[in-house]
Amino acid sequence: MSNQYTSLTDRFNAKWTPVPIAGCWIWIGSVKRGRNGDERPQIRDKATSRLAYRVSYELFKGPIPEGFLVCHTCDIGVCVNPSHLFLGTHKDNQQDAVRKGRHTSQTKPEICIENGRRNGRLNTWSAGCEGKSIIPHSDIPEIEVRIASGQSLSFVSAQYGVSKQALKQFMARAKVRAALAKAEAA
Ligand SMILES: [Zn+2]
Repeated sequence: MSNQYTSLTDRFNAKWTPVPIAGCWIWIGSVKRGRNGDERPQIRDKATSRLAYRVSYELFKGPIPEGFLVCHTCDIGVCVNPSHLFLGTHKDNQQDAVRKGRHTSQTKPEICIENGRRNGRLNTWSAGCEGKSIIPHSDIPEIEVRIASGQSLSFVSAQYGVSKQALKQFMARAKVRAALAKAEAA
């Protein structure tokens, strides 16, 4: 426990909880709201506060090359599972692209959490990257019960017209909301 690196790893590992279906590691440490209302998990590293998923990337995958963002394949900003993290191009590149008028959503199929919450929605989430289907949050308890009672993901997702993967991500997102609400109430 003497060196700083070990203690950062220990503090990191004490602050996440796994989500069964999606495999996300949900940050239960402090979370700061970004400008877009997105949740940004924080961890102290030396004298500063850093994004916990960036620290996760460094601890488990390696150094982040200068100018790169750490993005989520699961689109869950408070997930710190290194296997859900990938390096993205820098925001400046996007802004540059916007300025030059060549920014299109087609060039960016994966959603980066640093771009903020999709569709600006707080209570619903477009399941799947296509943004075709929206499942109301009020349906979440029912979906949980159906899955817990043995209905298959394929069956339930088909009824909502979304892919299995999209439903998994959606449910993980719902768990995040619940975990955050609990943390805020505590
Ligand atoms: Zn995740």
